[in-house]
Amino acid sequence: MNDVLVIGGGPAGVSAAVYAARAGLTVTLVYKDGGALAKAERVDNYYGLYSTSGTDMFDKGIAQAQAVGVTMVQGEVVKLSQDEAGAVFAADITGTAQVQARAVVLATGSARAVPPIEGLAAFERKGVSYCAVCDGFFFRGKDVAVLGNGAYALSEAQELLPLAGSVTVLTNGAEPIVDFPDPIKIVTDKIQAVTGEKTVAGVTLESGETIAAAGVFVAVGTAGGSQLAMKLGAFINDESVVTDDHGRTSIAGLWAAGDCTAGVKQIARAVQEGMAAGMENVGNFFFQLLFVASGGNLLVQSTLYGLGYEVELADLAITVLPVSIVALLWATTYYYLKDRRLRKKYYGDGKEES
Ligand SMILES: Cc1cc2nc3c(=O)[nH]c(=O)nc-3n(C[C@H](O)[C@H](O)[C@H](O)COP(=O)(O)OP(=O)(O)OC[C@H]3O[C@@H](n4cnc5c(N)ncnc54)[C@H](O)[C@@H]3O)c2cc1C
Repeated sequence: MNDVLVIGGGPAGVSAAVYAARAGLTVTLVYKDGGALAKAERVDNYYGLYSTSGTDMFDKGIAQAQAVGVTMVQGEVVKLSQDEAGAVFAADITGTAQVQARAVVLATGSARAVPPIEGLAAFERKGVSYCAVCDGFFFRGKDVAVLGNGAYALSEAQELLPLAGSVTVLTNGAEPIVDFPDPIKIVTDKIQAVTGEKTVAGVTLESGETIAAAGVFVAVGTAGGSQLAMKLGAFINDESVVTDDHGRTSIAGLWAAGDCTAGVKQIARAVQEGMAAGMENVGNFFFQLLFVASGGNLLVQSTLYGLGYEVELADLAITVLPVSIVALLWATTYYYLKDRRLRKKYYGDGKEES
């Protein structure tokens, strides 16, 4: 089990991984490709570097993370989930076994891919969805369509299969790049529009044919940070993951950094946010250790006492109890304040959800 799983190999992800790994945590970083840096031909405005190519920066970042002991996995995270207690995260990654961690840093770069298809934006939340695990339930027994042609589309289609009446993957003219098993249907024709009255009723193809669908799930390209966060129930705003100043999301143990959060899309900010998330993880981890150790000690000593062994209760009270109480108070205040800050940021001043 990893202490931290970082999703993304750009400036934000590598910074988070490097800070956490150098502080002694076990870190796995999974990345699909070079992200935004791979598109930056020349970078002139990062401290100490001039006329550097984005690809060179990316390669050096990957090598740097490797050098400080981060386990590197090249693959695409198609699903992120949590156990019932919310203590362990699990990431399904293409081409490799599931990776588990106590904490996750989302550093997946810029927003999700939304194809320019007529009706898609207009029917958002009226049948068009970006999250099968969140909204699949509303389409029980109904025909649904998934937009996409890769591993992420397959994962979303599989999530919908047990619920929906039928699942059709629409590739919008692209070739499928993974195998979509039965009973998932595949339609490769170009799409003309998502249609319906008040809610989605179907998808019209350029051929004139209409595929009946009460829901259209967009899963084009790779799952972005907001899509992965959404599946866990974290706050999203305008396609960005909502975080506080330390990169914490509304889900305990889930951080986000860099271009997948709101703000200026620059390397310097991504590095700073990655560093903050990495360092926060370290603090959080050692706090948890302290809490578990002191709580565990208290339990052991009390059990021994209960079994009739001689335990100096006075010593116990002086050492273990205050630590446990302080840790408990700290944890309660920490999560209360964080939740309040995030709610205020998400819902706006004085407008708690009603
Ligand atoms: C053309 C261009 C030029 C630019 N020029 C400059 C410049 O001169 N100066 C500057 O400061 N900034 C520049 N930028 C912006 C800068 O590149 C970004 O702000 C920065 O790279 C953001 O870092 P990041 O780590 O948040 O995301 P990214 O660098 O985009 O990295 C995202 C990482 O996440 C991975 N990922 C995403 N989803 C998944 C998934 N589901 N599973 C696994 N991995 C996933 C990607 O493969 C990638 O490794 C430029 C951007 C572009 C596009």
